[in-house]
Amino acid sequence: MPLHTSAVQQVSLIPVLSDNYVFVLHGDPGGAAAVVDPAVADPVIAWLEARDLHLAAILHTHHHHDHIGGTPALLQRWPAAAVIASAADRARIPFQTQGVAGGDRFTLLGREVQVLAVPGHTAHHIAYYLPAVAGRDELFCGDTLFAGGCGRLFEGTPTEMHRSLQQLAALPEATRVWGAHEYTEANLRWAAAVEPGLKAVVERLAQVQQQRAAGQPTIPSSIGLEKATNLFLQAANADQLRQRRGSKDLWRG
Ligand code: ZN
Ligand code: FE
Repeated sequence: MPLHTSAVQQVSLIPVLSDNYVFVLHGDPGGAAAVVDPAVADPVIAWLEARDLHLAAILHTHHHHDHIGGTPALLQRWPAAAVIASAADRARIPFQTQGVAGGDRFTLLGREVQVLAVPGHTAHHIAYYLPAVAGRDELFCGDTLFAGGCGRLFEGTPTEMHRSLQQLAALPEATRVWGAHEYTEANLRWAAAVEPGLKAVVERLAQVQQQRAAGQPTIPSSIGLEKATNLFLQAANADQLRQRRGSKDLWRG
């Protein structure tokens, strides 16, 4: 993987499909970039080419198609790009050049990346935590932690998801949280309905509704904001997490 002497600082998001975000870690035009969870390729290629950026690496959080679907076409455009993903999911996430696992650390575009194992949504879901260089810490958490929500339990248990969320809650509060879907408004409407009277939730919902009405993303969030408003992150134990996840799965508000 290419190492660069000056660390790449910026994170941008590209909205794709109905509610996915592809995240781009990059510096100034003309340099290298990395993308996280490219659901599709064409908008990502256009975004990078418009800024004269070349793709050095693709990071995957988990194997679902809306997180890996763009990788083959991105590799056709930039064949030397590294593909980083959970080594345990090699069978479901092809094209890997660097398999990783929880506890691993590596350098990406001059930034330290720490790999966190966060099972629950899928068995081998991982998150990428980048400690701050000059700005803020960044967390790319796929479908594990959303703004106001968490991923559905497709392959994991409530105990696993609770542990995964608590691991993320322990990160510095200023850490920017880049969840992979724009689900924030529905998550907070559910939270306001099932736990009425939570002032922080009500206030955040109003702000999020304004942002959405203006066509703006509600991502990134922060660990501090999630600790204040996310009922899944606030679940006291695995059983409460299970109850809340079940309630949200059935909610049609
Ligand atoms: Zn998923
Ligand atoms: Fe997804």
